[in-house]
Amino acid sequence: MVGTALVCGAGGFIGSHLVKRLKDEGFWVRGVDLSLPAYSSSPADDFVVADLRERDVVEAVIDRPFDEIYQLAADMGGAGYIFTGEHDADIMHNSAAINLNVTSVAQRRGIARIFYSSSACIYPAHNQLDPDNPLCVEDSAYPAAPDSEYGWEKLFSERLFLAYNRNYGMQNRIARYHNVFGPEGTWTGGKEKAPAAICRKVAMAANHGTIDIWGDGQQTRSFLYVDECLEGTTRLLRSSFEGPVNIGSEEMVSINQLVDLVADIAGKTIHKNHIAGPLGVRGRNSDNTLVGEQLGWKPSQTLRAGLEKTFAWIESQVDAAPAKAAE
Ligand code: NAD
Repeated sequence: MVGTALVCGAGGFIGSHLVKRLKDEGFWVRGVDLSLPAYSSSPADDFVVADLRERDVVEAVIDRPFDEIYQLAADMGGAGYIFTGEHDADIMHNSAAINLNVTSVAQRRGIARIFYSSSACIYPAHNQLDPDNPLCVEDSAYPAAPDSEYGWEKLFSERLFLAYNRNYGMQNRIARYHNVFGPEGTWTGGKEKAPAAICRKVAMAANHGTIDIWGDGQQTRSFLYVDECLEGTTRLLRSSFEGPVNIGSEEMVSINQLVDLVADIAGKTIHKNHIAGPLGVRGRNSDNTLVGEQLGWKPSQTLRAGLEKTFAWIESQVDAAPAKAAE
């Protein structure tokens, strides 16, 4: 065993992949989440199904001097969940409660450092109006103007983790993830994000079929494959750099280009029907200057390589559960 690790949010998309990675590295791992991973069993040595909004739960799971703690638990989802405004109170309350509990209990237990997953959603909306030139360099976060309450809660929690560094000598580490995707992520039901939703729609469509796309499809984004996200995450926690730092891809595409790429992988001709829907900012891309300088590393895998693996997995899910895919 190389050490002990706690993964909060271990039933979620990134957390479940992280548990597998830490087990492969030789860690003893405890996972905590409201539920078990949806698509594969967790190799965690101990998996606690519990609610991290409860302080008693957090005191019970941080019961030893863990070498590494990853705080990924959050009330989150894709644009259909975080940009409609219908879930704002829950998103803010639930995620802030988790972060308040984790920081306070960890500090009292003498934990040295926690990794915290913030988001590109903290960047000011007014810097992301031009789809071709979005500004997401780390120090553009202030004056703050995120376009969602989800982003405001992330910004508050970044500051919370950093305040524990300042006042209690902790060494918490903050990453701002940009659109992470991959196999075993939510792909149906309303909380899925653009790459998974598009993979599902393309997998379900016939050749020469038509799929619905939210907006005009000219909004831009970059998408980071989950394995690269984990590489950046573990490197950051183990580095001497506190962040906040972007962990994202710099390969920016429009949503229309993303559809064409997935259609090409699927070997289909797909027509797009543009409809109204929740969109988020007009353009967003990771700026990887700082991560390159501080960690001597930046993501390098192509979007296509990650999409090929993701499409294959989602296509297998659609084939196995066509009724679920149509929900
Ligand atoms: P996810 O929704 O799949 O995982 C989050 C997990 O937290 C879920 O399994 C959920 O059950 C758990 N959780 C929520 N409330 C809880 C509670 N009260 N107690 C215990 N567990 C609780 O999301 P993800 O994509 O794996 O994201 C992980 C982290 O990274 C989140 O903090 C998210 O905000 C952040 N992030 C993700 C992306 C992305 O593109 N996936 C982008 C930016 C930031």
